[in-house]
Amino acid sequence: MRFTSFLILSLISIQVSAQKPVSIKTAPSKPKLVVGIVVDQMRWDYVNKFKPYFKSQNGFLRFVNEGASCNNNLIPYLPTVTACGHTAVYTGAPPAIHGITGNNWYDNIQQRMVYCVEDASVQSVGIENSGAGKMSPLNVWTTTLGDELKLATNFKSKVFGISIKDRGAIIPAGHSADGAFWYDSKSGSFISSTYYGKTLPTWLTNYNNAHIVDSFYKLGWNLSLPNSVYEANCDADQNDYESAPFGKEMKGFPYNLSGFVGKDYGKIASTPYGNNLVMDVASQTLINEKMGLDDFTDLLAVSFSSPDYIGHSFGPNSWETLDGYIKLDELLAQFFTLLDKQVGKNNYTIFLTADHAVANVPGFMQKHHLPGVVMSDDGVKVELSKLLTTKGINPKVISAISEFNIYYNHNLMDSLQISQDKLTNIITSYLEAKSYILQVVDSRKAAIAPLPQNIRERIVNGYNPQRSGDLVFITKSGYVGGGNTGTGHGVFYNYDAHIPLLFYGNGIKKGTVNSVNYMTDIAPTISTLLGIQMPSGSIGKPILEVIQ
Ligand SMILES: [Zn+2]
Repeated sequence: MRFTSFLILSLISIQVSAQKPVSIKTAPSKPKLVVGIVVDQMRWDYVNKFKPYFKSQNGFLRFVNEGASCNNNLIPYLPTVTACGHTAVYTGAPPAIHGITGNNWYDNIQQRMVYCVEDASVQSVGIENSGAGKMSPLNVWTTTLGDELKLATNFKSKVFGISIKDRGAIIPAGHSADGAFWYDSKSGSFISSTYYGKTLPTWLTNYNNAHIVDSFYKLGWNLSLPNSVYEANCDADQNDYESAPFGKEMKGFPYNLSGFVGKDYGKIASTPYGNNLVMDVASQTLINEKMGLDDFTDLLAVSFSSPDYIGHSFGPNSWETLDGYIKLDELLAQFFTLLDKQVGKNNYTIFLTADHAVANVPGFMQKHHLPGVVMSDDGVKVELSKLLTTKGINPKVISAISEFNIYYNHNLMDSLQISQDKLTNIITSYLEAKSYILQVVDSRKAAIAPLPQNIRERIVNGYNPQRSGDLVFITKSGYVGGGNTGTGHGVFYNYDAHIPLLFYGNGIKKGTVNSVNYMTDIAPTISTLLGIQMPSGSIGKPILEVIQ
């Protein structure tokens, strides 16, 4: 890492010094740049837990000590998954309004599964013969923060999105973005789509040609701190309930990654080096696209996906997660230094949040007599199929089961003369007798479901007739879908729905906010700070305590 960081940093410092240094004596009334950071799968408690081990005062601690921390920011809808989270942060809207009801959903109009950012009308850019770039924000129905910035400045603001995941770059950048760049795990390059332009910027092609991934693989993944720190704060280094993303034979530190050089560009995403790649490309975008240098506020939307891959495999109590955040903190500190240099301290506003959090690994919970059980991903589907068959009903009356939604095939139900009430009663009474189910909710009647009002509201906020199921099943606390290793997220429990929210910079009032606020409040807060319209579907409120 040292070698490559040095390489990239030297590149950055050369280019920064080539530009005229910013010398503004007083802070402008509006920030010249807004940076939005989404840390994929970050739990609210991580900053407090890992704080004693951050090496710099300039990373997470810059937010904590010099900015505003919202300690009770919650996700106000279901399901708590990546696509919904990134959309809600940048639109201030819930899935019911912005239309992104999952990472994937069964489209009741097209009658097929749809991926959130798929777009058959565009082509990949930066890679040949691949569908990895046939993506755009087409499926998002409302405007985003970046779109509203563009509208407010007659499209003079620059807006870019960068992530390992396509959806983590495309959705935050919005409809009218200048560019979105995401990582292609086959080629090891950052790519884009013709939605944004015909070619990649030259600086990005140059970055791709340097094959930085291989140099990271050669370094391997080594711990940043002494073993005693991980022993004192985490579960054991190796557990049977952890996944093995680098191969069964490779468990525990240090991870020798040299076998992936030139062969497997996907593995990097499950290491902290995935964050280095995103930070490199974000820094290069900032410099080469000259962001934050004129009077029209720009938006740089950065999403770190690797914490999600690492978290799914190893869980919140692992050495891998702690080490990943120690290393991310160092990258944030470098990024703050770059922002201070290029845009000027007090000339930019930055926020950091997450798209969702994550459950503890069920095996870890069981070890400590806490609620945690593995649920098979296909279990509900298989069980319902058997149930319907024994009742003499064609199981194809269920079109799909995805992200806790059960979608009916209404055409088939009509032709078989099976009423919706009958099917709902059969499925509900069966599932509600299962150990893993808390309740099954008829989506259309969610507003009167016998659940606490706050939870009903989250189901309503997640429901959309074109892209949601007819039923939503709510699992009990601690039940996690997937196999016997690793963990997951997607439900309303606080381990999934309580996310960090940190602000720093121009217009931000230093302090701690303990009142409850929501993910959908982030976009209205930034809009208020900038004096621009809120995104079209926003239902949130500005968090006044953080605005100067
Ligand atoms: Zn995610």
